[in-house]
This record gives sequence, structure tokens and C-alpha cells, in this order.
Amino acid sequence: MSTFKIAIDGPAGAGKSTIAKRAAKELKFVYIDTGAMYRAIGLAAIRAGVDPNGDIAGVEALLDGIKIDIAHSEAGQQVFLNGEDVSTEIRLPEVSVAASDVSKIPAVRSKLLDLQRSIAEKTDVIMDGRDIGTVVLPNADLKIFLTASVEDRAMRRYKELCEKGIECNFDDVKKDMEYRDKNDSEREIAPLKPAEDAVFVDTTGNTLEESVAAILQIMKERKEK
Ligand code: C5P
Repeated sequence: MSTFKIAIDGPAGAGKSTIAKRAAKELKFVYIDTGAMYRAIGLAAIRAGVDPNGDIAGVEALLDGIKIDIAHSEAGQQVFLNGEDVSTEIRLPEVSVAASDVSKIPAVRSKLLDLQRSIAEKTDVIMDGRDIGTVVLPNADLKIFLTASVEDRAMRRYKELCEKGIECNFDDVKKDMEYRDKNDSEREIAPLKPAEDAVFVDTTGNTLEESVAAILQIMKERKEK
């Protein structure tokens, strides 16, 4: 049976996960948040006292002992690090930065690429990340590149963190975002960039509802083709 794959890429805070989650529910697809997997490895490095930015060999040495599992519930995707549910902890701002740092390491990317492809193989999926349309699912049926101004993205992320009760301030959130944008776009392997055949959607100034509606429309048109 053939499956339908949707890739959503773009920088942090563009609304990828919220939009992908909603669309997956509507289309009855499985939603895979690949950023959560990089976050789990970033968290494992922090916990082990390994510098995610400077100590490449240290991160590599951890990889064989890291098992990441993904489960799906009504609340969304859950991520397990060696059997422990880390879905909440991986959202901490310091884990975002660690995720971006470890994501530059080839051995990290190759471990997660295998996991991501094996999940996507079996089912209809909407997968979001940075390199889904370019590397993970180059034959995806629909590729979307979602973006927005850095101010909009930082404000969105700041509000999300406040809602979750995570202490932070807007300037720090914006600074982390700029750091990750640069890191993610300039790294050598699988940098953040739109696939040649991606549909561009800029959500600057849109409400989430407007963005969700726009994306759902594109998805439905493509699916009916
Ligand atoms: O999407 P999210 O912001 O949770 O991703 C956290 C980090 O994981 C990103 O800043 C990026 O460095 C990395 N990532 C990646 N490739 C992906 C998904 C996320 O490099 N497909």
C-alpha cells in the first residue's frame, strides 16, 4: 500500500509543530516531530556533563547508550530517552540550544535519520524539522517551507514557554533563536534550507488559525491530485 508523506521544514518558532499537529489530526496522519529527537540527544549530553558544542567525541561516545522511542497519544507525541518520558524536559530553553549544537555532529544526524525513515516507512506521515524535504524524505508528496520574521517567531516561542510555566524573558528567547537560526543554516550537513520543490509559506503577522487554514488548503489540494 502506498503512503502519503508531507514534509514541513523551517526555522524555530515558525509554527511548524502546531500546524503539523492540527493537520495530522484532520488528515488522520501520524505526526512526527523530529526536533524532539535532537532535543533528547541534547538533553542526554547535558545530563552526562558533556559539552554539546565543543565535545564532539564526548557526544559521539554517548550515542550507543542512547535509545529514543516515540509514542503517540491524544496529547501529541511523547519522547522517551532510554525508557524515561522526557517530553516536558526537552522543551527547556537550554535544551533547545544543546539540540542545535549536537545536530551539527554527523553521527547524531545519521542515527536519527535511520530512526526517522523507519517510522515514516510504514504509514502516512507529516514530519517536521529542518531537513525533511531535502534529506529525510526527498520523495515526499508535499514539501512545505514555513517561515516568519524572527520577532514573530521569538514572540510565539516566548508565549508558549510562559504558558508552560517555564521562566524566561523575550530578549533571551530571541537571542537563542538567532543563535539556532545561524547554527542550523550554516552547518555543513543537512542545513536548514528549502527543498527546490517546496511550497513557501510566510506566517508573519498571521494568527495561528490563518496559518493552519492556509496549510490545510495546500495539503488537501495536493492530496486530491
Ligand atoms: O524543531 P525544534 O526547534 O524542536 O528542533 C530543535 C533543534 O534540533 C533545531 O534547532 C535543529 O538544530 C535540530 N533539528 C535538526 N534537524 C531536524 C529537526 C531539528 O537539525 N530535522
